[in-house]
Amino acid sequence: MATMKNKIPCSADRLGLLDPQMIKAVVEISAFQIGHQYLSENRVRIVEADDAQISSAVIGNSGLYEQTIRLKDGHLISKCSCTLPEEPICRHCIAVLLEYHRWSQPRQSRKSKDTPRDVKATTQPEPQSNGNGAPTMGQSSSADVKLSEVMVFVEWLQPAIKAIEQAQSMPLPPPIAPGEVSNWIQTIRNLEDRRRDSEEVQLKLESDMRDREAYVARLSQQLQASTAEAKTAQATSQALQQELATYKVALSKVAELSGEVSRYDGQLKSMAQDFSSKGNQLDRLAGSCKQVAEALNAITKQTAPR
Ligand SMILES: [Zn+2]
Repeated sequence: MATMKNKIPCSADRLGLLDPQMIKAVVEISAFQIGHQYLSENRVRIVEADDAQISSAVIGNSGLYEQTIRLKDGHLISKCSCTLPEEPICRHCIAVLLEYHRWSQPRQSRKSKDTPRDVKATTQPEPQSNGNGAPTMGQSSSADVKLSEVMVFVEWLQPAIKAIEQAQSMPLPPPIAPGEVSNWIQTIRNLEDRRRDSEEVQLKLESDMRDREAYVARLSQQLQASTAEAKTAQATSQALQQELATYKVALSKVAELSGEVSRYDGQLKSMAQDFSSKGNQLDRLAGSCKQVAEALNAITKQTAPR
């Protein structure tokens, strides 16, 4: 944002004292005329102001420009977000000074008529919180509804409704004193704030819903993975059972074989017993044979030739 900063020596000690003639005397005449036109077209919005400083916005020909105007050490210091080369201050700042003068003037005279107090104190605008954080200017006076304020309200209402329809931020409230009309404006702004809040709540709910959907999707993915794992495990267990059945068959064959082996063993034992009894008989037979041989031998000796 290009900023233009200008410093003009200024003898006034309050911004409200700068009247249109004083302003006209120090600025470019064309800039003054355009600034005056902006004022009459109600394009100036004073955001915050006291006698030493004004924050404002002006609807220019190609957008909204923001200004800060200060009175400091005998100088009027102005800044505007426009890039116009107008010297020493631009049309927007001129429009703001004219608006501030117009706004502070009738109040000043009315106040000084009602209560003859210190002028400085009565002309000092007292920023008040209007419930929206933004201070409004002026003080509560009567609850009367002024026609001029109603006109300003109606003028403000049109862009406000447009902004609501297009979901954009609302225009700044017009600089009118607290009262019935400013309450209307505040009510509309509060309603719009509430609508925005509920929109935020809805967006939050929608985002929560999306989070939950994503969570459910993750869970069902995990479930699918687990199901696949379970199927694999089932297949493995079936293969193991088959293997086990095969082993059981093999084992029963082994048992059968070992039965046969023990039967053969029995047969072998009885054969061995047979053999040993036959051995005894042979022993006895051999003993008999020996006796016969000895008898024969004796007979042979007796009958041998001498
Ligand atoms: Zn400007």
